[in-house]
Amino acid sequence: MLDELYQELILQHAKQSARRGALDGSSVLCSNVHNPLCGDELVLSAEFDGDVLKAIRFDGEGCAISQASASMLAELAEGKTRQELETAISSFRAMIHGEIPLNDCKELGDLLALEGVKKFPVRVKCAMLAFEALSKLLSQSSPERHA
Ligand code: ZN
Repeated sequence: MLDELYQELILQHAKQSARRGALDGSSVLCSNVHNPLCGDELVLSAEFDGDVLKAIRFDGEGCAISQASASMLAELAEGKTRQELETAISSFRAMIHGEIPLNDCKELGDLLALEGVKKFPVRVKCAMLAFEALSKLLSQSSPERHA
């Protein structure tokens, strides 16, 4: 089973998150994902200021792992550049598949609590869902050069 302390952190994020909600406005980007295996649904909305993610909110429903992962990711993501977000996505993917040691992905913060999920392959998709949404969001957000 997941470590108790981590489990607590996961439940807290899933139950109550400062980042739950939706952003509004013409420059807000949204992405929608769902995980048919578990029934999880997530909507991310985010606003960039140039290269920096200024604000991000998530909404949706599903298991504690999917919701906690979205909450933790949203907390981590604010203030990060596109490049830093891409790095966080690949670090998390590697961590959740057990490909890199925890010491190599300390920048993931609270998200490290989800490391134990790698022992439950069925739940990896739940943990990755928010990252899929972020990745989708980044691919539709074109930096200034396209403007
Ligand atoms: Zn799930």
